[in-house]
Amino acid sequence: MSTTVPHELASTTGEPLPNLLLDYPGADIILRSQDCYHFQVPKTFIGDLIQGTLDPPGNANPEPSLPVVQLPENGEILHCLLGFIFPVTPIPSSTEEIMELLSVAQKYQMETALTHIRGSIARHNSLPTSLKPALLTYALARKYRLLPEALQLARSILKYPMTIENFDDKLDIMSGTSLYELWEYHERVRLNLASDLTEFRTSQAHGSITNLRCTELSSSRIPRWLDQYIESIGKTPNLFDHAELNVALARHAKVMASRPDCQCASITSQTIRDFWDALASVVDGSFEKAASALSLVHEREDPQAQINPTTFPLDTFDPSDASLIIRSSDLVDFRVHKSVLALVSPFFRDLLSLPQPSDSESVDGLPVVELPEDSELLNCMVSLLYPVCTVPNSYEKVLHLLAMCQKYEMVSLQSSIRAKVDRGEFRAPRGTEAFPAYAIAAGKGLIPEMESAARQTLDHPMTFEALGKGLRLFEGWALRGLANFRKRCRDSLIACLDSFLETKPPGPSSIWTGCPGRPSMYSWDRQQNPILPEWLSQLLLRNQNYLKLETFTGSLNGVHSRIRGEYLVAFQSHASCHSCSSVHMNKGSTFCAELENKLTQAYNEVRGEYGSHSDSTYLSPRNR
Ligand SMILES: [Zn+2]
Ligand SMILES: [Zn+2]
Repeated sequence: MSTTVPHELASTTGEPLPNLLLDYPGADIILRSQDCYHFQVPKTFIGDLIQGTLDPPGNANPEPSLPVVQLPENGEILHCLLGFIFPVTPIPSSTEEIMELLSVAQKYQMETALTHIRGSIARHNSLPTSLKPALLTYALARKYRLLPEALQLARSILKYPMTIENFDDKLDIMSGTSLYELWEYHERVRLNLASDLTEFRTSQAHGSITNLRCTELSSSRIPRWLDQYIESIGKTPNLFDHAELNVALARHAKVMASRPDCQCASITSQTIRDFWDALASVVDGSFEKAASALSLVHEREDPQAQINPTTFPLDTFDPSDASLIIRSSDLVDFRVHKSVLALVSPFFRDLLSLPQPSDSESVDGLPVVELPEDSELLNCMVSLLYPVCTVPNSYEKVLHLLAMCQKYEMVSLQSSIRAKVDRGEFRAPRGTEAFPAYAIAAGKGLIPEMESAARQTLDHPMTFEALGKGLRLFEGWALRGLANFRKRCRDSLIACLDSFLETKPPGPSSIWTGCPGRPSMYSWDRQQNPILPEWLSQLLLRNQNYLKLETFTGSLNGVHSRIRGEYLVAFQSHASCHSCSSVHMNKGSTFCAELENKLTQAYNEVRGEYGSHSDSTYLSPRNR
């Protein structure tokens, strides 16, 4: 038997990889990678890999006596994988490659290889722990359905607050479905921790530290500082850390330094270890119980698929002189006129101008065109063409209708639907429905609907809690885009408030600088830099702070409408000042109106950066 098998360099794209060849004694099969590297191995060692198709010997086979198995993986990954069966190579260095390697081992059910690779990951701490790389790797683990890695990474991610603000530029790493699942997992862990740790505090904890004497005990007879530390983990899981326990102990020992009846400072390391082990098993248990939240289910649900065609009455319009049948995905036929369809849709005009294939179906002599839309949607569309109008019963359906018009180039029909929404004949999104409406409009490329829904979301908090299950409708780029839009609106409002904090003429606030105010350490500076009365600057700064702190947890739409009320309250507290009273009497109302107008303008002038901008980060998906 020949011992060398040439690999076909001509068909490889990368550098030649001389050590990539594997030629095992006793080999009776050749594995061929997608990029044409050959590996001679004994069949009995490689389990399910040989379930692949066997090429007949001699066909493009460098060693005619051995059968060839063509595999879809590339040479490098196969080489690594085989290295776990035939001890030759270390695992790859990049996390991406490690995840791919695991996925291939999992695909071919190579349990031993999986165990080895996972052992190696554990020894080398190969999984990232800082937020962005952990999220990127989590997305890969999810893609390849690698549950142990997904769980480990989800636990690392829980060390960071899971808020829209904190995820910010990382919101587009994964789809809304994945993000929602991760959030749900975190919520479940938090709930488990809260209840499990409460139980631990009241029962087990005492037993793990019997020999610790302290004057300040909780009701379950453990030192209060320790009780508070355990409780804090329930709220902030990343406090489950040896260092945090030591910090809590040191703080307590410092306070109690002069109290001889507190022995906490002289706690033995063995007691700490025992306590920690007991605590760790409770915390690990809380995480394990939450594991089922990570189902790693793929693909977001297509909302159109949820529409149940049997839930609405189909009063199909049925003209007697119809010339065409359009058939929905759920096999309902609609009789229409070719001329009517052709008039509203260049798509159908072109389609219907083609000669009809001889084998195409016909019903009652009418040709049938099968469409991928369901009967509810087609019913709405057809009813818009003829003078019987079926009103879609949700905004979501309006969006699907608009998207269908976009697809079939029914420009005038699309405009008339938009007009019906504007006139209130068709549903518009109400309240927090704006979030799912934005997500669907983004997914369908309906820019005007995205714009109006995005603005409407500013009335409501944008948090994972508020988004809830609706998060699953979002693509990552759309979620990140919405968060960016919100930040840009906030920045515009903050800049506007800044212009009112400016005291130099002709700034609108220059009228207020006559206030003698309280003697302040800055009064020497007043000649060069006149300052605003404190009641006014406090009012403006308070609103700026609100915008900065509550960008995602509050509403951005309230500032301009409540500023006048706040102004009046603030002024009342300072009404005894002659200077300010006189300005208020003469110009206060104009000043307030300008403040309101400028804020409204600042709020309204922020627009989504739509797809036509080449540098857009708002609406263009990264890889479209
Ligand atoms: Zn103590
Ligand atoms: Zn004053």
